[in-house]
Amino acid sequence: MKKNKVTKIGVMTSGGDSPGMNAAIRAVVRTGIYNGLEVFGIMRGYSGLIENDIIPMDSRSVANIIQRGGTILKTARSKAFTTPEGRKAAYNNLNQHGIDGLVIIGGDGSFKGAQTFSNEYDIPCIGLPGTIDKDIAGTDVTIGFDTAVNTAVEAIDKIRDTMDAHDRLFIVEVMGRDAGYIALHSGIATGAENIVIPETKTDIDELICSLTEKEKRKKLVNLIVVAEGGEYGDANALDAIIKERIPSADTRVCILGHIQRGGSPSCADRLIASHMGYYAVESLLIGRHNVMVGVVNNKIHYTPLDKAVKEKQKIGQEWMKIVKILAS
Ligand code: ATP
Repeated sequence: MKKNKVTKIGVMTSGGDSPGMNAAIRAVVRTGIYNGLEVFGIMRGYSGLIENDIIPMDSRSVANIIQRGGTILKTARSKAFTTPEGRKAAYNNLNQHGIDGLVIIGGDGSFKGAQTFSNEYDIPCIGLPGTIDKDIAGTDVTIGFDTAVNTAVEAIDKIRDTMDAHDRLFIVEVMGRDAGYIALHSGIATGAENIVIPETKTDIDELICSLTEKEKRKKLVNLIVVAEGGEYGDANALDAIIKERIPSADTRVCILGHIQRGGSPSCADRLIASHMGYYAVESLLIGRHNVMVGVVNNKIHYTPLDKAVKEKQKIGQEWMKIVKILAS
């Protein structure tokens, strides 16, 4: 641990947005001010850092945002920050404001950037996992996952009503290019017959067989939840396979898309964002530097930024077995 006293801190959101980022910003700003720190908001992630788009923040500047989706600081991806020249410009701007600590709310790419920057310029950085995909090593939860999955559940419940009215097979695509957690959780919670995710193998013959068998039994309403990055591609790709193998199937595809990123954060996301934001500032104050604040087994857990990488969570076959039994 380093013991240099931090006096002015900056907070930013970087990479893809996720609901609950505002609650985290609020927690960082207010915990910082409570501890006598000056707090600055850095607009549009590393882009704003390079372009000196940095604003002073006080308690009032984060009033009435805990319930809002998106991020008041905006977010972006910055090619320039991956270059030494870009990071030099970022450092000069921090220096100009006297900022000596950073809190970065984002995904593993943002943490990689923070680690590189900190190695080069010795600026302590703390990461908070903000992503709807829940695919970062060192934490059981990420800011935004709970809201995204609840949004998906609410939408699928509505789809089920129309599905039921017409005896149709619906294939619903949820977000998750590399991670199937939104599909798994929302699929189980909505009683899906099948869930297709990147983490596990899907036996397409078995899937076709079970749909055909259900059709024979006059179980005409069927729901398949697919992650964007499912083994057979997206929902449209899976639909094409099913139509080819069961020409009589009356199928519809629904892609939920970006609604999963927006909306008011759930209570769980507001809580973890507030909790993590508080511990991010505490970490800077006590000299615990270059870590991501996570939660493991319901306890705050710190992971070095260079170990907080994208990680596929282990999804046991047990879950898939339960899905099939409950949907029979
Ligand atoms: P998401 O999970 O939504 O993709 P993320 O934080 O992983 O979020 P990225 O686009 O991967 O999103 O990273 C955000 C920004 O972090 C990049 O635009 C870039 O500016 C910076 N960054 C990523 N990797 C590096 C790196 N190796 N070196 C320096 N900066 C990096």
